[in-house]
Amino acid sequence: MTTTRRRAGKSKDIFEEDGKTFFEFTDRTTAFDGIKKDEFPHKGEVCCRLSAYWFEILEKEGIPTHFRAFVPPNIMEVEPLEIIPIEVIWRNFVAGSILKRHERGESLTVEIEPRLGARIPGGMIEFTTKFEEKDRPIDEQEILDNGWLTPDELDYIRECTRLTNDIMSGRLLERGIILADFKIEFGRDRNAAERILLADEVGTPDGCRFWDLDSYKQGVIESLDKDVYRYEKGDLSDVYLRIQRRICG
Ligand code: UDP
Repeated sequence: MTTTRRRAGKSKDIFEEDGKTFFEFTDRTTAFDGIKKDEFPHKGEVCCRLSAYWFEILEKEGIPTHFRAFVPPNIMEVEPLEIIPIEVIWRNFVAGSILKRHERGESLTVEIEPRLGARIPGGMIEFTTKFEEKDRPIDEQEILDNGWLTPDELDYIRECTRLTNDIMSGRLLERGIILADFKIEFGRDRNAAERILLADEVGTPDGCRFWDLDSYKQGVIESLDKDVYRYEKGDLSDVYLRIQRRICG
């Protein structure tokens, strides 16, 4: 076995072995563009298991992804891709950066009720940069002008993101969990650049906001995701293990 080219990302390592590409999900945790950094036991395993769980479901529902195989407990074989340098955000409820941007008077693509927890009717999609020091919102025109996507590809990504939301939101609701928002990424097949695949990780408490439905109905937002770390609302390992059990046992 020959392991080559290990690269460390913020929370995952990427390495190649015998011509295959793997993600190793680590316990490293960062927030606020890397300003806050820690490690939490089980975090890598939870995010790997949940990503594998969702990638399999999404593939079956017709969304092509980079997922190839789950290597328990915290490794995933993936298709090597050229990452498209944008992050795609879907929002069903108002939380996080959109509220801050509204407070600063920035223009948003849809009108929102500026209150944490307000529903966004029909949901909304947004894009941010990926490889800049601090991710910033970008509009669709800038994505096209930079040549990152063609108009058809942008439509395709919009459609995939909406479908991903519908699939995950529905299944989570059956388990008493609200999917408030999430971030996903896409990449191009190295051998067929026109083939766009859902990439990175999906449906994890690192990249989604999960809220307990019963608490929400009582007017309380109970975070079951990285907000417990961002805003020091609980122990990350406990919350991540709990959400994993609620989603996939
Ligand atoms: N998100 C992410 N990585 C990022 C930025 C955001 O996974 O670099 C996720 C975040 O966890 C949330 C959603 O995308 O589920 C929307 O995040 P938002 O834009 O509100 O930013 P934040 O409040 O995380 O700064």
